[in-house]
Amino acid sequence: MSQSATDAARRGGELKERIRAADHAYYVLDQPVLSDAEYDRLMRELAALEAAHPELADPDSPTQRVSGAPAARFERVAHREPMLSLGNVQTDAELDELDARVHRLLGLPESVEVAYVCEPKLDGLSAELVYEDGAFVSGSTRGDGAYGEDVTRNLRTVGGLQANRGVPQRLAGRPPRRIEVRGEVLLQKRHFEAMNQLILRQGGVPFANPRNAAAGSLRQLDWRITATRPLSFIAYEALVPHGEPWGTHWEKLRALAALGFDTNPENALCHGIAEVKRYRDRMERRRFELPYDTDGVVVKVDDLDWRRRLGAASKFPRWAAAFKYPPQEEATRVRAIWASVGRTGILTPVVEVDPVQLSGATVSRATLHNEDEMRRKDIRQGDWVLIRRAGEVIPEVVKPLPERRTGAETFFEFPRHCPICGAAVVREEGEKVYRCTGAACPAQLQGRLRHFAQRRAMDVDGLGDKLCAQLVETGLVKDFADLYAITHERWEGLERMAEKSAQNMVDALERSKDTTLRRLLFGLGIPQVGEATAATLARHFGTVATFLAASEEELLAVRDIGPESAREIRAWTSEPQNVRVVERLLAAGVAPAPEEVDARGALAGKTVVLTGGLSRLSRDEAKAEIERRGGKVSGSVSRKTHLVVAGEEAGSKLEKARALGVRVIGEEEFLALLEE
Ligand SMILES: [Zn+2]
Repeated sequence: MSQSATDAARRGGELKERIRAADHAYYVLDQPVLSDAEYDRLMRELAALEAAHPELADPDSPTQRVSGAPAARFERVAHREPMLSLGNVQTDAELDELDARVHRLLGLPESVEVAYVCEPKLDGLSAELVYEDGAFVSGSTRGDGAYGEDVTRNLRTVGGLQANRGVPQRLAGRPPRRIEVRGEVLLQKRHFEAMNQLILRQGGVPFANPRNAAAGSLRQLDWRITATRPLSFIAYEALVPHGEPWGTHWEKLRALAALGFDTNPENALCHGIAEVKRYRDRMERRRFELPYDTDGVVVKVDDLDWRRRLGAASKFPRWAAAFKYPPQEEATRVRAIWASVGRTGILTPVVEVDPVQLSGATVSRATLHNEDEMRRKDIRQGDWVLIRRAGEVIPEVVKPLPERRTGAETFFEFPRHCPICGAAVVREEGEKVYRCTGAACPAQLQGRLRHFAQRRAMDVDGLGDKLCAQLVETGLVKDFADLYAITHERWEGLERMAEKSAQNMVDALERSKDTTLRRLLFGLGIPQVGEATAATLARHFGTVATFLAASEEELLAVRDIGPESAREIRAWTSEPQNVRVVERLLAAGVAPAPEEVDARGALAGKTVVLTGGLSRLSRDEAKAEIERRGGKVSGSVSRKTHLVVAGEEAGSKLEKARALGVRVIGEEEFLALLEE
């Protein structure tokens, strides 16, 4: 007797659910719950069931992925040499022990300082890329160290630390016949944030952290999905069969960069273990400023011959170790939850917690993305929760610890009215968030003011959160333009304002009038206009008036502006209130210069000549960076040249600059200048 249709539907549903759960565990959490054989069995059963009951076929079924063929997992590939993991050290004493052991095994006297290369420990997914005769032939994940997964096609789509770099398809220079390059595939923090925002907007479940996101993105069966994820590859190791052409690891890293890989600019060569500790301290202080997640420092003996002599113990190499920072996650109790209102009117749950030390800072507040996330994670007032600092100033709530519940925990009812202005909050179709509808909502105004005044926008020095709040509360400011009308006396009348600080505010506002169109457009907080879009618009339109007058079609004609942006920007510029604010700003003396000249940039008014090749950015990028800082790039060196940036193999221009006594800087110094 054949299986009844209802039984088949039920079994089909069960199978789909189990396969999806297994996929989630495998691709997203990177924690497989089924063996390959079990997974294949479920998949085959589902395919057979769907074949026998065509009414069950549905385009979302796991069997329909990858052009209709049942999904297979990745091929297994053996690493020619195992990808060992590193032993962990956590204290200074353990670092000293490592150094003492290296001395002992190599028979070195204590007086000899061993050179170590230190690298930030990257929190992504390790991968190995094989090149033969300079061409990328195969790539795999680390897997269990002996065998990895073949993700060659996916790796081809991976970028570098900078947007214009990536996994080289062909190596530069004169590479060895075969070279195996190892490194980390990761998601930079800003990319991670943007990707999660997108996933949230589409109603999906965001990734828990950049590491999971990187693993989930690289290990997509459909490489085209990987291609849409902004992954970066940072090389840190290379192997050449039958003898490496390098004497030290430091040399190897430089060779990797010359072959076309991004290596970590934070890497350092340290002489002696004391210097290693100083490097570690420095990196730990700076860890949250770095563009990617890092959870420690990797320490490697620099001399490759010594490494060979040291060899590996059963599991870990003896010449390297990973120093792990104290944990970033802490458990604490939720005191209360409330809703805060941001500058775009979005209500976000804020979680007040018992103060706790987290990676060197005292933390008393954590965030959840939105109400749905609060419900999904089931966070209640009074709960014990795990919080995690992922680089942002405010940590996020990872999960509750339900085993510690007493029954006294309470649910937080998300308000249906703005807690600040009382206006109704609405959730628009397709949106995951609630917004305050109050046009005059002070919370939104305060946030917008802060955005307007920030360094990357109008750069009003000293206008911080507290001051913005006061300006709104006292009614002194109802829109940006009001800022410029505040007199010295009015400033002085505010709380904690003395004569001198009042004068500072007046001066700071005066200085901010001398700005660029890009800064102004960004500062206005126009929907869809971030810093990059503001720059594009500024370049395209040149003046405020032309921008305000642009029709939706004209906006759509601008590079990188899509239909949704064009519509929202036009909606903003056709609102008379907004136009009036801009007109009043101009009337107050705000004078936005076209993008090319940033009168306050580090290179304002300077003429710069580029010569030779730069390794970390293209010539066009270098030119754009100089122009963005108010400088001008010229093709030839003369007495009017202020600065020459000399890259590799700089030629006659360099000689001429020397002859004329023009200041010459190298790439490192140039990059440092851009950072200023
Ligand atoms: Zn409101």
